[in-house]
Amino acid sequence: MAATIKQQPILQTVGLTRHFRVGSLLSRRYLHAVDDVNLTIGGGQVVALVGESGSGKSTIARLLALIYRPTAGEIFFKGQRLSERRSRRDVLEYHGRVPMVFQDPYSSLNPVYPASHALMRALKLHQPELSHPARRRAAEEILASVGLTPPATFLTKYPHELSGGQRQRIGFAVALACSPELILADEPVSMLDVSVRIGILNLMAELRRLKSVSILYITHDIASARYVADQLLVMYAGHVVESGPAEDVLAHPKHPYTQLLLSAVPDPRAPLTSMPAADVGEPPRVVDPGEGCRFRWRCPYAIDVCSTDTPRLRELRPSHTAACHVATSDMETARA
Ligand code: SF4
Repeated sequence: MAATIKQQPILQTVGLTRHFRVGSLLSRRYLHAVDDVNLTIGGGQVVALVGESGSGKSTIARLLALIYRPTAGEIFFKGQRLSERRSRRDVLEYHGRVPMVFQDPYSSLNPVYPASHALMRALKLHQPELSHPARRRAAEEILASVGLTPPATFLTKYPHELSGGQRQRIGFAVALACSPELILADEPVSMLDVSVRIGILNLMAELRRLKSVSILYITHDIASARYVADQLLVMYAGHVVESGPAEDVLAHPKHPYTQLLLSAVPDPRAPLTSMPAADVGEPPRVVDPGEGCRFRWRCPYAIDVCSTDTPRLRELRPSHTAACHVATSDMETARA
């Protein structure tokens, strides 16, 4: 699974931060959705961003898709600061290079048009030099590359005539029509039946292998990241709490939250009584959170300093970091 970063990173964030104002005019408070996130995605790499709802991972996707502006920090695309690319033409070009695949494959397609509409439109927008027959040929090739065959049949199908998995494959086909270098895949399998999820995960792995497309895979399901990711970042309440090579993070989780996520992965062969109680403690406080570890209300290992000092990411194994005051390089995992 391991893939090395080729050349310069495709995308990099430095200190990426996004706060939202909440409350009334008289009592201004700020929701810290994303705080100080440093993320690097290399060419042909799949990076998984894992965390529960409200962890900030979808806010990061929207920041990278230029839907939100950062409160602080920078985003670099192939070394260029994105805040410098703000003309309409630049944004359109960026969206072609970095398209997004959404969680709900049905709402991302217009129900009154067949699948060809979204595909041909993307090709016309991002490859305007193609003639109509060439566009049609390109559309069929792209459909075949995402496993929708015979492609001519799928071009004429309406969204309601497609299964959830087929609709999500159309979503990836539209992204490919933009000639992408990086696909932002925001929970692309979470609304699919378990039986078709693996097909979409395999598709992502194939796109990376055959087309060298980088993918940011955003998910709440740490088990699915295992199938596709080279690098894994675990987020909790707006902070990255652990990051590193996916295999190493999964085999040697250092942060108590990562351990909790892994212990909550259901094992269909285990007896019911051995299932852990994952949903314990208080939810994170992300409105004006102040200093201290944001996981402390749920953490079984919390000590006094956890309430006063925000832990920073420290390297505990080669290229593997965790933000925890008590985690050590030789600490046994909670699962062991
Ligand atoms: Fe738990 Fe403290 Fe580590 Fe936070 S810093 S995860 S509260 S031990």
